[in-house]
Amino acid sequence: MPNEIYAEFKNALKNSGCAKCALHEGRTQIVVDRGNPEAKIMVIGEAPGEKEDLSGTAFVGRAGKMFDEIMKSVGLETNQDMFIANVAKCRPPKNRPPTHEEAQACFPYLKRQIELVRPKIILLLGATALKRMAPAKKNFSMGDETGKFFEMPEYPGILFMALYHPAALLYNSKLKPAMMEHARSLQRVIAANFRPEPSTAQTHPL
Ligand code: SF4
Repeated sequence: MPNEIYAEFKNALKNSGCAKCALHEGRTQIVVDRGNPEAKIMVIGEAPGEKEDLSGTAFVGRAGKMFDEIMKSVGLETNQDMFIANVAKCRPPKNRPPTHEEAQACFPYLKRQIELVRPKIILLLGATALKRMAPAKKNFSMGDETGKFFEMPEYPGILFMALYHPAALLYNSKLKPAMMEHARSLQRVIAANFRPEPSTAQTHPL
């Protein structure tokens, strides 16, 4: 049933023709998500890139593939164990980050996704996601924030973790060891806090 409600939301957004911000002008289509809307881990990235814009699926470009590999190395299948969405649902020109106004305009959709998916953990990939979801953190540096878990009163019961956006790793491979360590921390937190359901223990780490 929750899947059906989410499917309804997704279908409505995809076909909405939303023009609440200027990003609608350059998009091929609205890119809503990727993965499992019943997963306990939600991932929030920045915005669709070229491949995502053309395919209609989030996080399928080089950065997405790198993220898949990193998560696989700690036993997580992104399409099964995670639900992935972006701050902005339409591709910004030249893949620039969405502006504050664009992120604000798109936020009700992201908020609804969080409400419908009801994740236990939200991974914030990169500064755009961290800024949008945790506005109280001001003048932060990703180097200081990545790998840390935190909670926010407005999202009770959800554990947040900031991570480097995998696109940053494509440009700076020196960040990869830190990302791997953070992925292992995530694995430890999952193992300590979230036990598998008996019926799904064979295939679901959560
Ligand atoms: S980015 Fe979001 S708010 Fe802006 S046009 Fe696309 S769907 Fe609408």
